[in-house]
Amino acid sequence: MSEMTRRDVLCASAAIMAAGAPLAAAEAAEPQTKDAKRLKVVATGAHPDDAESGAGGTMALYADAGHEVVSMYLTRGEAGVPGMGHDEAGRLRTAEAEAACRILGARAVYVGQVDGATEVNGKRYDEVRRALSEEKPDIVLTQWPIDTHRDHQAIAILVYDAWLRMDKSFALYYYEVESGVQSQHFWPTHYVDIETVESRKEQACLAHKSQNPVTDFYPMHQRMQRFRGEEAGVKLAEAFVRHNQVSRGLL
Ligand SMILES: [Zn+2]
Repeated sequence: MSEMTRRDVLCASAAIMAAGAPLAAAEAAEPQTKDAKRLKVVATGAHPDDAESGAGGTMALYADAGHEVVSMYLTRGEAGVPGMGHDEAGRLRTAEAEAACRILGARAVYVGQVDGATEVNGKRYDEVRRALSEEKPDIVLTQWPIDTHRDHQAIAILVYDAWLRMDKSFALYYYEVESGVQSQHFWPTHYVDIETVESRKEQACLAHKSQNPVTDFYPMHQRMQRFRGEEAGVKLAEAFVRHNQVSRGLL
């Protein structure tokens, strides 16, 4: 694998960010897109709050640009509220996810696995592939697989396998969460300038009240956004790794 230079990254980001809905530039030009102007973007995450914290700004930008945005949750975060049973926590975190989606302009979809006990096997591969096939996405954002949380590893590999089985029919981008603590060894290929929508991203993350976002995770993402912004030459950015293979749109 050749090393991408800093200059390459900045060139890529500059081209992407000039497009308004930043990651859309290459995808929008592809002839197979159902509607060249309206893309379907599916952001997948293991738990309510993952996609919002890693890619919430990009989701808001797509929604604002008139594209359809879906937030696909592998679990409902059932194990994520100390002292609360799975059913009650799942209901609470589903309500928080719905609130976050309203803020970002996304529609929530739930795959049906259980937080802390996610599985990667034949049945689960098929389940995620079916869920993605129903949505017919142009672009999928998912978690980076080199991550300390097993559920994050699970959604990453389930989505990757679906992408292979669906003939690489959508552009696949990975996002980072709590980089250094959860996501590791993440070297971006693309950046999205989120300055104009960062306050909505913050509100969407703060909607996950049960996760103590004000103290526990949003400040870290604010630092990441500033750092990625510095890398990309803007104030605040989200960073992505784009899979370099896609079966359509090849030049
Ligand atoms: Zn998570």
